[in-house]
Amino acid sequence: MHLINKILCDGQLTAQQQQRLQDLLDSVNREANYFLGYPCNRAFDYTPLYPFLSYPMNNVGDPFKPSRYHLSTHEFEREVIDFFADLIHAKHEEIWGYVTNGGTEGNMFGIYLAREIYPEGLVYYSEATHYSVPKILRMVHARNIMIKSTTNGEIDYQDLAETVRIHRDAPVIIFANIGTTMTGAVDNLDRIKQILKDNAITQYYIHCDAALGGMILPFVDNPPAFDFDAGIDSMAISGHKMIGSPIPCGIALAQKTHVDRIARAVEYISTFDTTVSGSRNAITPLFLWYAIQSKGSNGFRKMVQDCLNMADYAISRFNAQGIPAWRNDNSITVVFPKGPEAVMSKWQIALQGDIGHIVVMPHVTKHQIDRLLADLVEMRTEVTL
Ligand SMILES: *Cc1c(COP(=O)(O)O)cnc(C)c1O
Repeated sequence: MHLINKILCDGQLTAQQQQRLQDLLDSVNREANYFLGYPCNRAFDYTPLYPFLSYPMNNVGDPFKPSRYHLSTHEFEREVIDFFADLIHAKHEEIWGYVTNGGTEGNMFGIYLAREIYPEGLVYYSEATHYSVPKILRMVHARNIMIKSTTNGEIDYQDLAETVRIHRDAPVIIFANIGTTMTGAVDNLDRIKQILKDNAITQYYIHCDAALGGMILPFVDNPPAFDFDAGIDSMAISGHKMIGSPIPCGIALAQKTHVDRIARAVEYISTFDTTVSGSRNAITPLFLWYAIQSKGSNGFRKMVQDCLNMADYAISRFNAQGIPAWRNDNSITVVFPKGPEAVMSKWQIALQGDIGHIVVMPHVTKHQIDRLLADLVEMRTEVTL
């Protein structure tokens, strides 16, 4: 149980203000026990890094270029980028990246690069794509077409093929999902590339939204094509999802040659303006670095395998009670028919249409799954009675 430090607050805050903070902490502490519906790992401890919170840390500018602002963690940020570059088979000399404020910023960065390279290009993305993407497409004014998705959440390849064929004169910008938000589906890059080939499309750009999948697929046996090995141009991965962080963050990676096109020298900070944000979080690269150092690839592999096993446990328990729960291959997102609102809200279950999901992150226990199931079964009995 955490307590607000009353001694430190004294003189700064009234007793009533202190109580409000304590109430908030109590509520967060309580609700964290029912945190099953969102893909954010809560199992982390960055206490050793707290001293850095006493400085105006800022990673303004390009992490790979020196800057005049010295209260930064660029060196650690570069090591984080290098770690991810290895994970997703990008060659260090050909890749550029930075730590973002989350998946949305990484996707915006990728679409921005693609639009700079192909101003007349058409962005193809599936219905199951994250809600922030249509907004990004409006923000960067990119021409775009939404493609149907299949019931498991993959892009509908037939619809994609037909649509590309109709628009063969326009360069193609593929926005591929490597783990959709709702069902964890992975778009098949081999099939997508075959469609481009069949239509003799030579001008194309592939961005992968690997918010969650980018930290899962590197650690499974026989992953499908999902990364720079498959000839993609850019990728966004979330940091606060699988790895976990109290502050949202992510990683954007792209072919260096693409980034060189958008780099602008800025005298004021004496560096290059290659990132979406100017001032950037310098603490989150430290969190990610700390997690990478303390867990290592083997730790992450075990973490991912444990989650997949726990997801299978949830599915078998749900199925045993007649609830048709399922998951996609290599996904820790367990999908099931939406239950009564009281239960969905208590367990913070994300809903879309008729379905809900739990995301079996490292903090999710058998006990929590059993209790969610017990709540569902109990409510079902009440309804039938
Ligand atoms: C979570 C998520 C995003 C957005 O990430 P934020 O960090 O919330 O900005 C984008 N795409 C997918 C597939 C996601 O799951």
